[in-house]
Amino acid sequence: MQTYFIELSYLLASVLFILGLKGLSHPETAKRGMHLAEFGMLMAIIGTLMHHEIVTYTWILSGLVIGSLIGLAMGFWVPMTAMPQRTALSHAFGAFAAALVGVSEFYRHGGHVDKITMSALGFEVMLGALTTTGSLLAFAKLQGLVRGTPVTYKGQNIFNMALLATTIGIFVYLIVVPGSLPLFFVMTGLALVFGLLLVMPIGSADMPVVMSLLNSYAGLASAATGFVLNNKVLIIAGTLDGFSGFILSILMCRAMNRSITNVLFGAFGSAETAAAGGAQQGVMREVSLEDIATQLAYARQVVFVPGYGMATAQAQHAVRELANTLEKRGVTVKYGIHPVAGRMPGHMNVLLAEANVPYSSLYELEQINPEFPSTDVAVVIGANDVVNPDARDNPGSPIAGMPILEVDRSKSVVVLKRGQGKGFSGLENPLFFKEVTGMLYGDAKDTLTRMIQAVQQA
Ligand code: NAP
Repeated sequence: MQTYFIELSYLLASVLFILGLKGLSHPETAKRGMHLAEFGMLMAIIGTLMHHEIVTYTWILSGLVIGSLIGLAMGFWVPMTAMPQRTALSHAFGAFAAALVGVSEFYRHGGHVDKITMSALGFEVMLGALTTTGSLLAFAKLQGLVRGTPVTYKGQNIFNMALLATTIGIFVYLIVVPGSLPLFFVMTGLALVFGLLLVMPIGSADMPVVMSLLNSYAGLASAATGFVLNNKVLIIAGTLDGFSGFILSILMCRAMNRSITNVLFGAFGSAETAAAGGAQQGVMREVSLEDIATQLAYARQVVFVPGYGMATAQAQHAVRELANTLEKRGVTVKYGIHPVAGRMPGHMNVLLAEANVPYSSLYELEQINPEFPSTDVAVVIGANDVVNPDARDNPGSPIAGMPILEVDRSKSVVVLKRGQGKGFSGLENPLFFKEVTGMLYGDAKDTLTRMIQAVQQA
């Protein structure tokens, strides 16, 4: 009866995870998807707690209480802008748990496990260990605790590959000749070091891709844990996590017109690649808030293009308010959303949804680009790389080929940013020097709040 209940709760949890993932694929169903997945996790936990092998609940309950309290505090206090580093921490925790389970299983059997279990266990520990240190370094880079730009040196890729090959070599040896505890710990140690070396040469602009790759590794490590513990829901959830993370990495790379190998080994964002963008000639034309307010008030169509700066300024509510004010005056307002604007997939969608911007006003890159020539004013709010025309016009640019929002084809462009700061790629943006462009300096939220008043008075 007990086994029957456990299997049933695992089946239900697996179905809910799949439905949850499906829900997450669209902004309108994302919330429901999240709730379904949460309920699935509850089912999986309840099922696991029913296992008759559990001798005492003391440790489990203390872990549950401490973990829930930390999770709750993070949910309340971590701002949306710090979501990428928070996610990196979660990956580190998940992968560390998987690695610890593997180590304890190996230790428990004194290293004498059959070949199949050893394959799953070694895979779990190796992937879990490298994901733990890799994710911790990603966290430190994104949080600004260490330098965010790539750290490179001569022969780096060869050294990293040699280290990985040695780690895999020990893993294979342990499958064939099991039982060596010292070798097992050497393999674990090397995997921990490899995680750091893997993330070290990766630049800040590529961190989201790396994180989603690490997410994929953490998922696969959990799936391997499922094989070791003979736990079906862990196998299913881990595989779903592993492959969705991998697909997401590929999609992000595609949106930036990059390959995974280029992200992992290209040291994009380093001093050399940034310099390849070249210095820009000309001056940036500063415009007055009042002039832009008048332009907006009498425009037929205005397109807002949000970027990372809107997220840091938390300007989404002010954007929505300005849009309301303009719409009341009969102006058509649309939002152009780039797939990699901000610092995580769907970043802009989440923020704008939080400010109750209707989904019908959000336009994807392919939908909005043909609209720019008939747009009176394109308002770029803290976006930089995603509107950089060099990606389209300069084959020598490190971001050449990356699809962009072609705001420079509009009748007029106004860029809201604090100063002359570069985008995440560290490249100069020729858009800011174009005749059609006016620069409105200041924090985006502050500028937009003043703009609302100015439009009302226009
Ligand atoms: P971006 O290129 O990073 O530019 C953001 C701009 O916002 C900066 O130039 C900055 O200029 C301005 N800014 C910062 N704080 C501001 C504030 N408080 N008020 C006004 N402006 C502010 O952003 P993006 O155009 O959104 O491009 C995203 C980048 O991340 C791309 O390079 C993309 O490839 C990369 N990326 C994203 C993802 C993803 O999933 N979204 C994944 C991988 C990579 P000032 O300092 O002068 O203000």
